[in-house]
Amino acid sequence: MFRSKRSVSFLIIIFLIMTTPAFSQEKPASDKINTSAGIVEMYFVGHGSLMFKINDFSIHIDPVRSSGNYTDLPKADLILVTHEHYDHLDASLINKLRKEGTVMLCNGKSASEITWAQPMKAGDNKMVNNIDVEAVPAYNIVNMRAPGQPFHPEGTGIGFIISIGDKKFYVAGDTENTPEMKALKNIDVAFLPMNLPYTMTPAMVADAAKAFKPKILYPYHYGDTNTDEIVKLLSDTDIEVRIRNLN
Ligand code: ZN
Ligand code: ZN
Repeated sequence: MFRSKRSVSFLIIIFLIMTTPAFSQEKPASDKINTSAGIVEMYFVGHGSLMFKINDFSIHIDPVRSSGNYTDLPKADLILVTHEHYDHLDASLINKLRKEGTVMLCNGKSASEITWAQPMKAGDNKMVNNIDVEAVPAYNIVNMRAPGQPFHPEGTGIGFIISIGDKKFYVAGDTENTPEMKALKNIDVAFLPMNLPYTMTPAMVADAAKAFKPKILYPYHYGDTNTDEIVKLLSDTDIEVRIRNLN
């Protein structure tokens, strides 16, 4: 009896091993952008998480395990974290992506959790491996947790403008269409968050995009928001809207 029970459970285990989907799903999809410093590959991990690769230099932006698949992505030379919310700051994944020489730049609250990281505030610039990283403001104006309490208060979170060669990549973080965003210049590629109640509606994203005119716009961090809307709202502009798997 004991023996047969054991062989049954052995068979069950074999069956489970054979039928459980492998943990490594597909490597995240990517797009390529030509810059004067080389080709930048942008990997769309999911939600607010991105990975840029330029000549074997890897930049992980808001890396979060639950947002996508990290199995086939390289460790980080540079980690950028916009703010400390759980869908942007994942300390255990950061630990796994860290290698000798990894530099991490982030907002002040994230730096209090990751003690080796360098805090930045809006207006700061840092140069890492010839890549200029500028911190810009990211905050709510209308969307509040409670009256007077924005989800993202001004002065805490940041977005990043990453200049690689002759191209500027703007990863906005969790923000609305602020006057500072609308005043940006010469952005080639912009990632703008598009979900309520935390960030922007498609109309707010369109308002910002029409003001600072990125050449390419990726709505990201969009949750259940219908991405057709932003495509429609910007169809009469020169802005190329690209929808990728970043919900
Ligand atoms: Zn947030
Ligand atoms: Zn978020």
